[in-house]
Amino acid sequence: MSINLDRLKGLFKEINAINDDSFGEGMSRLAYTPQDKAARELFIKRCKEAGLSVRVDAIGNIFARREGNEPNLPAIAFGSHLDTVINGGQFDGILGVLGGLEVICSLNDENIKTKHPLELIVFECEESSRFNIATLGSKVMCGKLGYEKLKEVKDFRSQEIGEIFGEFGIDIKRIEEAKNLEPNYKSFFEIHIEQGPLLDNEKIQIGVVSAIAAPHRFSVRVIGQPQHSGTTAMKYRNDALCAAAEIILAVEKIAKDNAQNSVVATTGNCSVKPGVMNVVPGETTLLVDLRGINLQTREEAYEQILAEISRVEKERVVKCEIKQLAFDTPCKLNDRLINLIASETKVLNLSHEIMPSGAGHDAMHMAEICPTAMIFIPSKNGISHNPAEFSKWDDIEKGVELLRNVILKEAE
Ligand SMILES: [Zn+2]
Repeated sequence: MSINLDRLKGLFKEINAINDDSFGEGMSRLAYTPQDKAARELFIKRCKEAGLSVRVDAIGNIFARREGNEPNLPAIAFGSHLDTVINGGQFDGILGVLGGLEVICSLNDENIKTKHPLELIVFECEESSRFNIATLGSKVMCGKLGYEKLKEVKDFRSQEIGEIFGEFGIDIKRIEEAKNLEPNYKSFFEIHIEQGPLLDNEKIQIGVVSAIAAPHRFSVRVIGQPQHSGTTAMKYRNDALCAAAEIILAVEKIAKDNAQNSVVATTGNCSVKPGVMNVVPGETTLLVDLRGINLQTREEAYEQILAEISRVEKERVVKCEIKQLAFDTPCKLNDRLINLIASETKVLNLSHEIMPSGAGHDAMHMAEICPTAMIFIPSKNGISHNPAEFSKWDDIEKGVELLRNVILKEAE
């Protein structure tokens, strides 16, 4: 191995020592907090010690650059995030940042100069835990989010985003200066824990991500008739909850029927009115999250769900109102880079699987501005966003070594 696992472990240890313990168990390093600031400052210090020049953009993304022999060539970029959810784990995000820094340190060790420049990126505020907005830093960088949409946002404690940014040294009126649709990158790589059970269950060392799933979210309001639970015979009822129950099971069945297209669907919430024991439910609202890696097959599943909803409406004489909540486009990653990573796993004698990502990542926005790929390593039992999140150091070492080889191939 060319990378130094002890040095990498040391980096994990010192960054993960920076934590807001007031939340209790696990890692709680929320974006734009004093803990986030301290972790970023330490990371920048380590980058400078490794000889990198550091730039921070107007939304707080960090770019640490190692110059190439031909500085005008497009850079090879790689990175991830340092912020965490509340009560999260020690590996989500930080792996891609510190793994990237270790790749650079290992090149320094061996005095390897690359032809292309290298750029290590820390995307700010990847997790949605603070503002209910995920991948905030990369969205602003990739031009998908700006001042108008953000200015009214508050965090989960109802603090204004402008005030939070101000305390962090960011001027909310100027965040769009971070927009960079032509970053002069040849490619972008993100190594991340899988956050799902496939690699661990199948004992596969590396996941090469083919595509990143995106959600279509909607609510279904089922309107029936609230009636006396004692005096209304069964045949006279229009029970909104029973109708909703059929819809919930239909959503599950349709997702299972479309599993070959990596479709998943979840009814994550169900509210019932009036919600008392002695009244037949008059109204029920479901929140449905439907995901897929291919827009067409995901929307085919959506059409099947709509057909089932119509059937339930007719059979149970209820009315269903559907409200669209989110419609994101799945992202296909770059075939050339997928093939490059897959062939480098063979060089290192690692088993791999080409697989989709069910979770969103900064890479899905980067994919719109430059060729992008992702490497997954196993998550024990697929657990993530949880203090029990765990990946073996052996898997981390192999994943980061693979990242190094891929970067070197790209950078010559
Ligand atoms: Zn992450």
